[in-house]
Amino acid sequence: MYYRKLGNTGLEVSEISFGTIPILQGNIPVLPAYFNLDESEALAVMTHAFQMGCNLFDTAIVPEYGDAEIKLGKFAACVGRERIIISDKARFFGGGEMYRAVETSCENLGTVPDLYFVHQVDASHEEEVFGRGGALDALAELKAEGKIRFAGVATHYYDILLRGAQDERVDVLQGSGNLLERGMLDRIRQETRFRGKGFLVNKVYAAGLLPARFPVRTLIGFALEYPVSSVLVGLGTKEQVEAAMGWDTRNPKRAVPSFEEVLSVLEKEYAPIPCDRCQRCVCPYGTEIHTLFRQYQYFYLGKDYWALKKLGLGISESARHCQECVAMPCMDTCPQKIRIAQEIQKIEKLTREYAV
Ligand code: SF4
Ligand code: SF4
Repeated sequence: MYYRKLGNTGLEVSEISFGTIPILQGNIPVLPAYFNLDESEALAVMTHAFQMGCNLFDTAIVPEYGDAEIKLGKFAACVGRERIIISDKARFFGGGEMYRAVETSCENLGTVPDLYFVHQVDASHEEEVFGRGGALDALAELKAEGKIRFAGVATHYYDILLRGAQDERVDVLQGSGNLLERGMLDRIRQETRFRGKGFLVNKVYAAGLLPARFPVRTLIGFALEYPVSSVLVGLGTKEQVEAAMGWDTRNPKRAVPSFEEVLSVLEKEYAPIPCDRCQRCVCPYGTEIHTLFRQYQYFYLGKDYWALKKLGLGISESARHCQECVAMPCMDTCPQKIRIAQEIQKIEKLTREYAV
């Protein structure tokens, strides 16, 4: 295992880190049944990762990741609190709620988290989070009081990451990317304003869909090529830990497939939309184009029910707007020259065909 600096925090983190969703137990819709781990199994998996050099463990407040936060606290007590770095998060956007969430997390963990993120920040909550008295002010206060060590923003949106990169209250960012959805990572690589912050990248397996198509070493190695501090991988078995961490990331040299090569692999299964989720397209009607395209890809890659459900939300309205849209400003900024309006019509047709 190799280690990288976590921005300006002074911490050194393992370049492959442990995501705790798969060690939770309970009724969480995103949880496949085989990840239904009890406490002793969960601790054994985390211990295995620790023995392989992993020192960063990422979780979220109960119940966002079920009971994973509690299990991580127990693991920290077993292994020695000072030997690992705990990253935690909560989806609360107001300052008061965030302050109380961190206190709850400290109780659940039985210790103080090293990193604490505002979780899943999107445009509708951005001003609340960044504004006066919002979640980031609360994290700054908690940091001053010694209840967390460093503050962060976790989001799937490039513009919000960039805002976080320029905010002095933010020490660490957490964003997503993988072989298929690499557009945001490409932009982060080009943007020097990200360099002062630690950066954790998640979703490198694309919700578990890509390992059936590409070796996990390729998926992880791909993300490590970017200026990130650590690649977070959800792990639920010792075998998964071995696959993710049991190799030398610097030797042998990995061949990272180009975006076109990734598309050509997927073309054997369906007609992928060549969208890398760079998020440069903007729709004046509010259609989140990159998210629609993601759900389309995920539908064909195996998350059919979940993806279809999400696609159904507002798709007919989006398709209607596209039919009436003359200027089509979204197309002007798309480097892939995707015929966005036509793809949205195609997706709308798909949701009608498969609607139950
Ligand atoms: S073509 Fe459709 S997605 Fe693009 S800007 Fe117009 S309404 Fe929005
Ligand atoms: S549609 Fe084009 S501009 Fe929009 S996210 Fe995809 S690749 Fe980027």
